[in-house]
Amino acid sequence: MKMNFELDEDHRMLQNAVREFAEKEIMPYGKEYDEKREYPMEIFRKAAKLGYVGASVPEEYGGAGLDYLGEAIISEELTRADSSIGTAVDLAILGVPMVLRYGSEEQKEKYIPPVVQGKAPSAIAITEPDCGTDVAAMRTKAVKEGEEWVINGSKTFITNGSVAGHTIVLAKTAEVEPPHRGISAFIVEPAWEGYEARRIEKMGLNCHDTAEITLKNVRVPAENLLGEENRGFYQLMEFFNESRVKIAALHLGMAVGAYERALEYAKQRKAFGKALIEHQAIQFKLADMWKDIEAARLLVYKAAWLIDQGKPVPAISSAAKLFASEAAVKVTYEALQVFGGYGYSKEYDIERYYRDARVGTIYEGTSEAQRIVIARSLMGRVKR
Ligand SMILES: Cc1cc2nc3c(=O)[nH]c(=O)nc-3n(C[C@H](O)[C@H](O)[C@H](O)COP(=O)(O)OP(=O)(O)OC[C@H]3O[C@@H](n4cnc5c(N)ncnc54)[C@H](O)[C@@H]3O)c2cc1C
Repeated sequence: MKMNFELDEDHRMLQNAVREFAEKEIMPYGKEYDEKREYPMEIFRKAAKLGYVGASVPEEYGGAGLDYLGEAIISEELTRADSSIGTAVDLAILGVPMVLRYGSEEQKEKYIPPVVQGKAPSAIAITEPDCGTDVAAMRTKAVKEGEEWVINGSKTFITNGSVAGHTIVLAKTAEVEPPHRGISAFIVEPAWEGYEARRIEKMGLNCHDTAEITLKNVRVPAENLLGEENRGFYQLMEFFNESRVKIAALHLGMAVGAYERALEYAKQRKAFGKALIEHQAIQFKLADMWKDIEAARLLVYKAAWLIDQGKPVPAISSAAKLFASEAAVKVTYEALQVFGGYGYSKEYDIERYYRDARVGTIYEGTSEAQRIVIARSLMGRVKR
């Protein structure tokens, strides 16, 4: 057996096709969507039509049936073209993986096809105004009343919260010690009475929808409990093994997009009678960017490959997310520096990449949370 670091023919063709799509349908619209701060619904629909939204969803539920490496390649290409639109389109899938893994046949047939076929994005609501990293401290409650669950509470920073067709809501269903053993997941439809979402404005990712959600006596049919009661926290940890790789791939793509733009600029812009790229200080910046991108890609592909082998490793998924998101912050910072004053202006894409990349070390678990997962595995407490 020999080690192989090359993409096979199918993955290369996929990469080329997504790149072509993203350069035509996403790249030209980055600035426009950043300014109008609107979810790119039409672009989401076009991407979904081509099978680029949640590409690893099996064909029987409307997906493209690709492997997770294919999905990671798509994520990278989408944000390479534009950090904001790429993220918004790719994360339309957020509320699907848990349905796919734990849902009943009826739940899968009802809730997955509308997302992967481009009818509406989906969401997952974990974070609350008083707790994010400490998931088990959540206060949103679901109480069983006959054949329904009644949910009360509030969630915040929810991706797609105000544009989703369905939202996976995590809520307390038992007061037990330790508290993470009393959390369950529910599939909630935003059209139901008592569900209210308000968009949140933020530093970047302007066309990515982020919302706070209030749940006031929302009545959820018993059949919308997702998987087993009180297993929500464990389901979530499995979900993170995959979703962190997706976030890592998205931020790898942002780093690539910023690096390529900086490289191009450095070849054209002149200072002291020669192109910027002829100055060693600029060469070193570009060399460091390239090195971080190569390393991030290796981690992303390894983490995706492990998922495809059916043996995701939490520490590797966390390492990919930690490294790629921090690399994106560094690369976009240095890329902006290469552009000088123009980097700080709205004339070029770089300021947007710089703003958009920053969130990568925060959502889907902060960098500190990823280090905790890795450290636990080193201490023998989590599979490595
Ligand atoms: C744009 C955006 C989109 C998001 N999308 C979603 C979504 O779709 N669904 C969802 O549920 N949430 C979402 N989030 C929320 C995000 O996951 C949380 O913001 C994140 O998990 C951190 O939680 P927090 O903001 O409450 O920070 P806190 O948990 O209050 O943490 C504050 C700081 O303390 C650190 N910290 C906390 N605990 C420890 C510890 N034990 N040891 C060391 N340091 C620690 C953190 O790393 C951080 O630096 C989104 C956030 C943003 C900004």
